[in-house]
Amino acid sequence: MKPILPGAAIGVLGSGQLGRMFAIAARQMGYRVHTFSPDSDTPAGLVSDLEVNASWEDTKALKAFASDVAAVTFEFENVPFGVTTALEALLPVRPSGTVLHIAQNRIREKAFLAQAGLPVVPHKAVRRLEELRTALQEIGYPAILKTAESGYDGKGQIAIHSALQAEAAWNAIGGRDAVLEAFIDFECELSVVAARGEDGSFAHYGLLENHHKNHILQTTTAPARVPDQIAVEAVEVTRAVLEGLGAIGVICVEFFLTRGGRLLINEIAPRPHNSGHFTLDACVTSQFEQQLRAVCGLPLGSTRQFQAAAMTNLLGDLWARGEPDWGAACGRHEVKLHLYGKREARPGRKMGHMTALGGDADSALKAVTDAMLVLGRPEKG
Ligand code: ADP
Ligand code: MG
Repeated sequence: MKPILPGAAIGVLGSGQLGRMFAIAARQMGYRVHTFSPDSDTPAGLVSDLEVNASWEDTKALKAFASDVAAVTFEFENVPFGVTTALEALLPVRPSGTVLHIAQNRIREKAFLAQAGLPVVPHKAVRRLEELRTALQEIGYPAILKTAESGYDGKGQIAIHSALQAEAAWNAIGGRDAVLEAFIDFECELSVVAARGEDGSFAHYGLLENHHKNHILQTTTAPARVPDQIAVEAVEVTRAVLEGLGAIGVICVEFFLTRGGRLLINEIAPRPHNSGHFTLDACVTSQFEQQLRAVCGLPLGSTRQFQAAAMTNLLGDLWARGEPDWGAACGRHEVKLHLYGKREARPGRKMGHMTALGGDADSALKAVTDAMLVLGRPEKG
C-alpha cells in the first residue's frame, strides 16, 4: 500500500480517551480525524474533525464514514466484529479485523497464545455450568471466572474459592461463555507496548510496571523495576505476539511476573494502552503517533525515552469532594496533567492522568504520587 500522507482523513471506531489522544497526535501531524461511535459529546469527538454518532448496525452511516477516510483504526476492542469485516471490504483496517476478533474474546485470545507456544495463565474455556465444575477440579482454588467478551477494568470477573461457589459465580457472570483462570499470586504486573509497521518493522517502549487497585490501573512506572533479563524476555514474547497476529498497529501485552520469576501473559490489547500514556511526555514518539504511523504505512518513530517516568490515573473518585485542585498539581514542575474532557465523574471512571519524569523510576513515581496527594488537599486557602 502507498503511504497515507498528512492531509488525509483517518477513521477511528470508538470515541473514548484512547481515540482522543490518537486524534490529537494525528491532527498534530496534519491529518484529519473522523470518529464513529454510538455516543455523542465524546472525549474523541470533542477533538476530531468529524464526530459521527450512529449505531454499529447502521450500515448506511458506516458506508458514508468509510467513504470519507483513507484508513480505519479502532480504540477499543468491543467494536462488533461485523463492523470491521464490512469496512475491510472497502478500505484498510488496522490492526485487522482478525486481530480484533482474537483479542475481543478471551477464549480465542488464549487459544491463539497457547497455539503459538507462548506462556499464558493456566485456564480452561467454559460454556456451561457443568464445564465450570470440571474446570474447577482441574484449575484448583482460588480461581477467577471471566466472561469471554465485553470485560474491562475487572468487570465481568469473579473469584471462586470453593466448589460451593460455582453456581453462584456462573449466575453472577450471566451464564455466558467464559474462561476459568488460575489465580496468580504474582510478584508484580508488567506490560509491553509495541508497534509493528507495514514493512514488518518492530518498535517497543521497554518493560512497564503496573499497579492496579480494584482491578483498575493505578500507576505505571517506566522502566519496570525488575531484572533486565525479564525485560528482554517480555519484549521477545511481545514481538512473537505481534508477528503471530500479523498486526499492523500498536498492541499491548499484559503480563504477570510470578513469585518464581516466570512471565505469564494475562491478556492482549489490540490498541494503545493505559500503561503507555507516559510515552506522550517521556518519549520521542508517543504510542498514539506510533499507531498513526503504523496505520498510515509510514516508518515507525523512535521510542527513545528521555528520562524515567511514572503515570498515575485520575479516576472519578477524586471528584467525591468537588473539583480536584488542578492549580496545586500544576505547581509541581515535573508533572504533566492530561484530562479527557468527560463531564461526569463517576467512581472508577478514567477522567485523566498525570505523568512525571525523574532521574530514576523511584523518583518519578514519588513525584507523581506527591502530585496526586495535593489534588485533594489544597495547599493554600
Ligand atoms: P481487564 O480486561 O478488566 O483489564 P484483566 O484480565 O486484565 O481484565 O484483569 C484485571 C486485573 O485483575 C488484572 O490486571 C489483575 O490485577 C487482576 N487479575 C486478573 N486475572 C488474574 C489472575 N488470573 N490472577 C490474579 N490476578 C488477576
Ligand atoms: Mg487488563
